[in-house]
Amino acid sequence: MGAAGTAAFAVGDAGTSVRRWHDAPMPWVLDLDGVVRLGTEPVPGAADAVARLRSAGEEVVFATNNSFGRVVDQVAELEAMGVPAAGSLVTSAQAAASLVEPGERALVIGGPGLVEEVRRRGASVVDAGPADVVVSGLDRALTYDRIRLAARTIRDGARWVQTNGDVTYPTPTGPEPGAGTVAAAIAAASGADPVVAGKPEAPMAVFIRQRLGDEGIVVGDRPDTDGRFAAALGYRFCLALSGITTAADLPVDPDPWLVGADLASIVTEVLGA
Ligand SMILES: [Mg+2]
Repeated sequence: MGAAGTAAFAVGDAGTSVRRWHDAPMPWVLDLDGVVRLGTEPVPGAADAVARLRSAGEEVVFATNNSFGRVVDQVAELEAMGVPAAGSLVTSAQAAASLVEPGERALVIGGPGLVEEVRRRGASVVDAGPADVVVSGLDRALTYDRIRLAARTIRDGARWVQTNGDVTYPTPTGPEPGAGTVAAAIAAASGADPVVAGKPEAPMAVFIRQRLGDEGIVVGDRPDTDGRFAAALGYRFCLALSGITTAADLPVDPDPWLVGADLASIVTEVLGA
């Protein structure tokens, strides 16, 4: 395995295929917001780029910190954008559930996607303490009583697993409170800190490496999450300038292996035209 992040290729380097470092099919981990879609709109060329990767034999996985929606609903949203995603979506809800043991009693503060993954793991979802673990994420029905219940259950000795730390998430009308805001309330009430599962933290990296192996490519639009996540995975980081990061922000830390205008140009650079 070569050292990730050390090459200094840029999209447009004439005559060099960055693909030369590996001849076998390669797993690609694609961030969604800012790479595949912007809000509810697809990024131009992204659906075709995903299709080109798959027809070249590459495995494509979409990694999202969205724990709220059920996988089937998130897949349907991607398919409506022309991106087939069945069996290819990894969520922070799955990563959080991987930290719950089958048979445990779990108090879930979160959406239907999180409840579903904790149940799929073989844990029993309880509505009140006692519980072995509190699993929290974005919860649009959060109430004072649920915060109180989570804090009391943690104080009584339950572990605390949090889907992801993003305090807000972007929408076309501006940032909305995210899972990290829910965690902040529970942290304040309980005096505890959670184990955070989602990007860029280690549990989601371990979860993906178990599926995809030790070598791969991460494409994302945020060095602070996607770049750090690639480092946690030991994968190469490709920065797409189609989301939150623009050319004016360069250079960035961590240093990307490859920078491209968008997913389509990155795929062309890695696979060849
Ligand atoms: Mg993104």
